[in-house]
Amino acid sequence: MSVQLENRAAFPKIDHGAPYTMTIDGRPVTADATFEVFNPASDAVLARAPEATRDQLQTAIAAARRAQPAWAALTWDERAGYLARYADALDANKEELATLLTLEQGKPRHSMATSEVKASIFWIREIAKLRLDPEVLEDTAEHVVQARHVPLGVVGGITPWNFPVLLGLWKVAPCLLTGNTMVLKPSPYTPLCTLRFGEIARDILPPGTLNVVSGGNDLGQWMTEDPGIDKISFTGSIATGKKVMATASSNLKRVTLELGGNDAAIVLPDADYKAIIPTLFWAAFGNSGQWCIAIKRLFVHADIYSEFLAEFVAYARTVKVGDGMDPKTDLGPIQNKMQYGKLLDLFRDIKEKGYAVPLGGTIDESLPGNFVPVTIVDNPPDSSRIVREEPFGPVLPILSWKSDDEVVARANDTHFGLAGSVWGQDRERAIRIAERLESGTVWVNEIHIHGVLIPFGGHKQSGMGVENGIDGLAEFTNIKTYMFKK
Ligand code: NAD
Repeated sequence: MSVQLENRAAFPKIDHGAPYTMTIDGRPVTADATFEVFNPASDAVLARAPEATRDQLQTAIAAARRAQPAWAALTWDERAGYLARYADALDANKEELATLLTLEQGKPRHSMATSEVKASIFWIREIAKLRLDPEVLEDTAEHVVQARHVPLGVVGGITPWNFPVLLGLWKVAPCLLTGNTMVLKPSPYTPLCTLRFGEIARDILPPGTLNVVSGGNDLGQWMTEDPGIDKISFTGSIATGKKVMATASSNLKRVTLELGGNDAAIVLPDADYKAIIPTLFWAAFGNSGQWCIAIKRLFVHADIYSEFLAEFVAYARTVKVGDGMDPKTDLGPIQNKMQYGKLLDLFRDIKEKGYAVPLGGTIDESLPGNFVPVTIVDNPPDSSRIVREEPFGPVLPILSWKSDDEVVARANDTHFGLAGSVWGQDRERAIRIAERLESGTVWVNEIHIHGVLIPFGGHKQSGMGVENGIDGLAEFTNIKTYMFKK
């Protein structure tokens, strides 16, 4: 992959003529078959990515297995040093990566693509500073008992298409730091950035430490079936997460599953709603709603519902949907035709059921690209599809509520349990409600705060295990108990 920097262009121009290659055992690898990767803003074919065969996957797994003992034998600080140098190399390519991210994923180049790439690099550097010290459980005259964290071996990383850079590197950094090696597979819809960061790793990491393969869903399934993989770190939908867990049981692979959400935000009657509407809007519609922790049900107290809805719609009207490469664009297209088709179906249901739609509601299918307008649904029933399902698009139901018990029961009436938020000036009341929400994360008067030391994961069917934090790091290890007689 070569990149040409044009003096006059604001962003690096990417030459898609050179073939994208997988990274196996530190070397570039092509495949006999390739698949098309589309620009979601235009439907044009952006590039072709290699379609790994099962043999190539097995070669990658074997390379990761060969590399793992020597990698684990390095000191923690040596591995941290490799990660810091890898972060520097990604940093040197961040402009190109951000442009590529917009071209393949659709998100705005000047805002979300830039911040995703920068945050990912920051994350690697910060993860590299973490330590998992042994714990002394007993130290008596007779013996010492210690619990130490040891690597699992080879980890299979499987990622979705909404945040391909961040969610991939969230797996790579803790996996390698703890002494494991990795085979990473991006979504077939957004493989290019991941292939690029595999390429960049070739000059930094020992061969076999980080292997990147691309292909379809079959490739993911082969990974979960393969006895050469000790853990699957998976981010994606609940339906696929269930398959991953079932197949991974063949050799009792460890699994971390980061799955879908249907997050509730609850606005109390005393909320300073004019002040918080922009925050709530972006928390629901950022990345065009293609976000596991997007607000997907916005509960607003009946006392302020009408005014809130009018203000929210007025704010939403100011937002521009368009090509992510256009600096005026606030929200890009839907990333792929599969998801666009799901939204078409959901929009048809909203129309057929006759719900009130004060903004948006009609997708213009004659336009090139997967563009969906910002859409707000006014108080649909709790039984409606738009309330019960995860739309994963720029469409939000706003729902009226009256009592705390009622809103908590409605917010919890779902098999999802990823995150939730409560907003109001009565902080004690807001915290009491937040404590009753059945989700892995709750925010009060703030939202979408993440940190390397903050564990993140879903309750109920939104996942199993966590990423980030010391707990997330520990999920890439086995506990080994040492007992030494004195
Ligand atoms: P998806 O489940 O369709 O695909 C995710 C990945 O799994 C892709 O790489 C895909 O190729 C692979 N895959 C598909 N079938 C497989 C199988 N049988 N075995 C192994 N791998 C397989 O999800 P998606 O549509 O790419 O992503 C959207 C979903 O991801 C949404 O539900 C969203 O909420 C969720 N998500 C969750 C988080 C989180 O941290 N909780 C973050 C981002 C996205």
